[in-house]
Amino acid sequence: MNATKVSIIEKQYKAELNKYLHCDEDAIFFYWKGRVALYEILRAMGVGEGDEVLVQGYTCVVVANAIMYLKATPIYADIDKKTFNMNLDSLKSRITEKTKVIICQNTYGLSSNLEELEQIAREYGQKYGHAIYTIEDCTHGFGGKYHGKSNGVSCDASFFSTQWSKPFTTGVGGFSVIHNSDIRAKVKKNQADLVQPGLKEVVELKLMYFVRQYVINDFTYWPMIRLYRWMSRHNLVVGSSSGEEIVGVEMPEGYLKAQSAVQMKKGIKSVKRLDAVNELRRKNAQVYTEFLNKHGKYYVDESLHADHIFIRYPLLVNDREEFRKRAEDAKVILGEWFEAPVYPADASLATWKVDTSVLPVAMDVCEHMVNLPTDEKNVAKVIAFLEKQIDLVQ
Ligand SMILES: *Cc1c(COP(=O)(O)O)cnc(C)c1O
Repeated sequence: MNATKVSIIEKQYKAELNKYLHCDEDAIFFYWKGRVALYEILRAMGVGEGDEVLVQGYTCVVVANAIMYLKATPIYADIDKKTFNMNLDSLKSRITEKTKVIICQNTYGLSSNLEELEQIAREYGQKYGHAIYTIEDCTHGFGGKYHGKSNGVSCDASFFSTQWSKPFTTGVGGFSVIHNSDIRAKVKKNQADLVQPGLKEVVELKLMYFVRQYVINDFTYWPMIRLYRWMSRHNLVVGSSSGEEIVGVEMPEGYLKAQSAVQMKKGIKSVKRLDAVNELRRKNAQVYTEFLNKHGKYYVDESLHADHIFIRYPLLVNDREEFRKRAEDAKVILGEWFEAPVYPADASLATWKVDTSVLPVAMDVCEHMVNLPTDEKNVAKVIAFLEKQIDLVQ
């Protein structure tokens, strides 16, 4: 595909995204994956050796990797059980004069208290005499809002993922929205460093789209997902995480990759369907909340429902292994966000410099969390399942 054609597709994609973001189109930058968008933001912010980047100890391992690929140190703050986002007292206790960036998150699409968080960044920045940048990890939150503003329009920058499990999908993919003008100029300049996806990757992507559309159904889901995870771990597909990303902190080859036009085209189609999907997600979440509330169990606070898209519904359970087994028997697809402070790390947490002693809430949640599907057309099936296992629900 020639460059003019790609830039036309890119422009169309930006326009589609902007129906939700309402931002300056020059602020949007595309990448092969969301993690690359984050890495590029951090790099433009000048993050490097000796710097500390604050992040919540309830996130995806690729977030910690992006920090560590730049030789900076991730410092983890604990979370709140109401939103599964950073606890601001814990955040304050972890800021030092080396803090350069705070990454807050949109866990399950729920927003952090952004005004207060940005205020903390300003205050401590003044105290230490240098800017403390803020980044919103909106990988779960595209299409949602916080205090009437779209997710991803606050902070110095934000980034999104369009991987399979995220709000809308391009198979793999991601983009950033850069509000800080100095950082934006650097991110723009650094786009020249990205490698273009090759023919192999484009073919694999198209194969993935085909498999998702025509091969995966209720009967094939479980064996397929096992096969996919195994292949992904062994670097046989363009999976969400390559094997080396979950066992170590060395940047894999070809990490700094641009987004292909194939992904952008897929993105345009997916975004167009998003309103209908989100409508279903909201309805189902309301059903879960009412059910859990009625049974005196943990549920997402009613006040958080209006602005929220509910990419997944968080559920806390006892004896998760047993719960998962029963879910598989009942053909209820549970999510895995997050079963470790940096998930799915497949090596000692010390590899990612996690100090679990300062993460009591996150560690407890990691042990008990499963996520209910919100795009399930047959929500009655899930409710019937929950009704039977209510003794295991916290
Ligand atoms: C999925 C995810 C990412 C990374 O997105 P990719 O597109 O897979 O790189 C980052 N942060 C969180 C919290 C995520 O869940």
